[in-house]
Amino acid sequence: MAVTQTNAVKQCDLLIGGKWVKSDATEFSNVYNPNSGEVIARVPVGGASDVDRAVQAAQRAFPAWADTPVVERARVMMRFKHLLDQNYEKIARQVTLEHGKTFAEAKASVQRGIEVVEFAIGIPSLMMGECMENIATNVDCETMRHPLGVCVGITPFNFPAMVPLWMYPIALVCGNTFVLKPSEKVPLSSMMIAEYLLEAGLPEGVFNIIHGGKQVVDELLTHPLVKAVSFVGSTGIAKYIYEVGCRNGKRVQAAGGAKNHIIIMPDADMDLTVQALQASAFGCAGERCMAGSLALPVGDAAEELLPKLVESVSKMSVGRTDGDTSPDMGPVISADHMKRIKGLIDDGVSEGADLALDGRNLQVKDAANGFFVGPTIFDKALPEMSIVKEEIFGPVLSVVRVKTIEDAIAVGRDCPYGNGAVIYTNDGRAARQFKRYFNAGMIGINVGVPAPMAWFPFTGWNASFYGDLHIQGKEGIAFYTQQKMTMTRWFDNRPSQFQDPIWKGKQ
Ligand code: NAD
Repeated sequence: MAVTQTNAVKQCDLLIGGKWVKSDATEFSNVYNPNSGEVIARVPVGGASDVDRAVQAAQRAFPAWADTPVVERARVMMRFKHLLDQNYEKIARQVTLEHGKTFAEAKASVQRGIEVVEFAIGIPSLMMGECMENIATNVDCETMRHPLGVCVGITPFNFPAMVPLWMYPIALVCGNTFVLKPSEKVPLSSMMIAEYLLEAGLPEGVFNIIHGGKQVVDELLTHPLVKAVSFVGSTGIAKYIYEVGCRNGKRVQAAGGAKNHIIIMPDADMDLTVQALQASAFGCAGERCMAGSLALPVGDAAEELLPKLVESVSKMSVGRTDGDTSPDMGPVISADHMKRIKGLIDDGVSEGADLALDGRNLQVKDAANGFFVGPTIFDKALPEMSIVKEEIFGPVLSVVRVKTIEDAIAVGRDCPYGNGAVIYTNDGRAARQFKRYFNAGMIGINVGVPAPMAWFPFTGWNASFYGDLHIQGKEGIAFYTQQKMTMTRWFDNRPSQFQDPIWKGKQ
């Protein structure tokens, strides 16, 4: 059993060696339904002994799993994918319950995670090495990809199912074993999904789950048996994970926070742009690392864009996502986060930005204790304001009006992050200039959110990513494998077979 019921609140267990077991922790933190503020589970704040038990189990499982033919490892993933498909709505409901996303958003996020499993099923061809015959006289050379050993995933709250799925399907088919430390705010979706991995026939100990915060993370980063760490979360922690992990000899990929720029050229189709911008800024209540949180209308684009945008966004319905209704937007993750977002809106007001839509005093029916902030738009914000510089990670869009595309590109150059950026235009020159010079790793041209699908890497730049090989796609396979080169000399002093008259006759 993944969760045990104590005093009417579920208590999360650890998955170690194929079994759900109790943590050694004495301290617990709460998991909330953000729609109501109710505690729905308690999660152990683990420490060194939980980490060691999980890592040792993963290490014990490693030799047999690494020796299991890659096609058999991929077949486990195929069965896992069928189970995910069959239970897709159930998983999405769990995501909604612990995170607060709308059901439609939750389903889309689970679908994105399933696509990584589809990619992982194809790993046997992508893991193939290279070879060259006769690279020197009578010498052949080849490379093979080998797994690393115990790999670790540390994940954020904002995509409870999808972000962990970016990591372990690839790591596992590459022959590694895995320890997942999901966000302590949303552990339940990962625990539900782990049951399907076991049902798919994954051997005991190949995939493990532990819970906790900084202490557990520090133990994972320093455990001698951990070979690689994948992290997704805020920038300060990403940098810390990268530095501590590298110092302890781990391979690290650490994706951080973001501030994503949306450039609107005067020639853009404003109705389509408003739709896309609204979805980008306010989808998932703005809690996306690829959320379009900073709009840069160029020239007179703002005159047409702003009234249409404010009118459309003000009609968005905000409400509980855990019932029968389907609002456009749900709550944010916690009471603290709600307070922080409202505080940043207060800062924007005091710094002099024009508050075109204010979500601070939103009242949601039947959700007096829920964590809600309404959609908020600041117009005429300036690059030096905190609402422009900081990642708010909530339903707040800041608009900085600029004169030219070059000015928009310059605002991007001053931004410490570098995840995504989008342009809306029909002007090929502007689109090309933007694509070529904008200071971010994921570029969209007339698309809402340019988050890559599983077959491509998630290529954040600057303070949005620490490491070399990114998460997902072929870079994911490179991250979770090490290459071995073999050079073979064949002692053969006979004359070349190509001089043989019979061979010549065949030419
Ligand atoms: P977070 O950094 O607070 O937490 C992420 C993980 O780190 C969690 O598992 C948490 O338990 C752990 N953690 C927290 N504090 C720690 C500490 N002091 N030391 C070690 N580990 C610690 O992030 P969050 O609030 O859960 O998620 C939101 C952030 O994640 C945003 O900044 C968002 O942009 C980012 N994010 C980035 C991407 C990306 O691909 N770049 C994707 C999703 C989310």
